Amino acid sequence: MTENVILIRYAEIHLKGLNRPFFERKLEHNIRHALHDIDHKIRNESGRIYAVGISDTQLDTAAQRLTKVFGVHSVSIAVSTEKSWESVKQAASELMSREIQDGKKHTFKVFAKRADKKFPMTSEEICRELGHELLESFDNISVDIHTPEIKVGVEIRDKAIIYTNEIRGAGGLPVGTSGRAALLLSGGIDSPVAGYMIAKRGVELSAVHFFSYPYTSERAKDKVIDLAKIVSEYAGEIRLHVVPFTEIQLTIHERCPEKETTLLMRRLMMKISQKIAEKDGALALITGESIGQVASQTVEALCCTDDAVTMPVFRPCIGMDKMEITEIAKRINTFETSIIPEEDCCTVFVPKHPVTKPVLQNIRESESLVDFEDMIEKAIADSELIICKP
Ligand code: ATP
Ligand code: MG
Repeated sequence: MTENVILIRYAEIHLKGLNRPFFERKLEHNIRHALHDIDHKIRNESGRIYAVGISDTQLDTAAQRLTKVFGVHSVSIAVSTEKSWESVKQAASELMSREIQDGKKHTFKVFAKRADKKFPMTSEEICRELGHELLESFDNISVDIHTPEIKVGVEIRDKAIIYTNEIRGAGGLPVGTSGRAALLLSGGIDSPVAGYMIAKRGVELSAVHFFSYPYTSERAKDKVIDLAKIVSEYAGEIRLHVVPFTEIQLTIHERCPEKETTLLMRRLMMKISQKIAEKDGALALITGESIGQVASQTVEALCCTDDAVTMPVFRPCIGMDKMEITEIAKRINTFETSIIPEEDCCTVFVPKHPVTKPVLQNIRESESLVDFEDMIEKAIADSELIICKP
């Protein structure tokens, strides 16, 4: 039987030795989730996963979604057919005729892998014979072994698999294989990128967003929900906690030294996030900070922020400049949403001259001017949980 399938190659999983079945199961689970509303079946055969039984009209959508699943190295929409030379030739010819529909000249090369050594031709013979066969059948094509436009792949496994495309996947490790962390998610460019990068290492995400109504609007909150949904296309379901922060912010503003207000606000955000993280079973915090980007991100300031919590804080953007972060934001499609102009609670009540070289002891003393405990508990109790998925 000849059928259209999606061939899914996995990324780093092959490195994982005895844990491999665990990683594979997670990956398959995440693949099923990505295709939840598309009829399909998953087959796992010797180091390859296949999505089969997908209708022709949904193949492209399904392939596109699979490129966003962490752990996937690349995908190909392929033809699966019997392991006979005739079937291989026929499938390759059909795929080639689709590739050259534009009537222009094209170059190609055949790549073959013979996992089933009982197949009577070696990989080299398959390449040579099929190349020859295609040259005979089509006028407008020639072989280019160095930079072919069309790569014809043939894999002889349980079935013969033939394809002419390979779409790069997101790479990384399947989400759910490395624990959970809580992302401090603002509406800016950096924090969605930070969440993406940590999820790429297999980490499940919770997210915490602080909003200061009426200083920040409902629209600003909706923007953050939209960002979490975009990140969830990669990271899977995100538990987004929206925390009312107005009372704490106003109190800091009224009672603490003006030049330290941003830093104190950052410390309180961290404390609240750690408590929410603990409830969600998250073991670390994630922020979009990058050294020196603003006054609260100098090394001295970051030390003061870290001092507020005991959990490790992951900052994957720490060594990147804005351009590098922006490139990733564009690639993962969060950029356009991030640049919609809305207030963030970090941008209201900004001190005119924030400290850039804060002294930890002074910051701790300023914080102790106010007993924040009840306000922290109230903010957590009044927070709203939104489950974000694509
Ligand atoms: P971003 O582009 O991610 O907003 P930024 O360059 O604007 O970052 P800051 O506003 O100083 O930097 O924020 C630093 C980090 O603090 C953010 O990356 C984010 O992790 C966290 N953060 C800032 N504002 C909020 C908020 N309103 N809710 C949750 N986290 C926030
Ligand atoms: Mg910001």
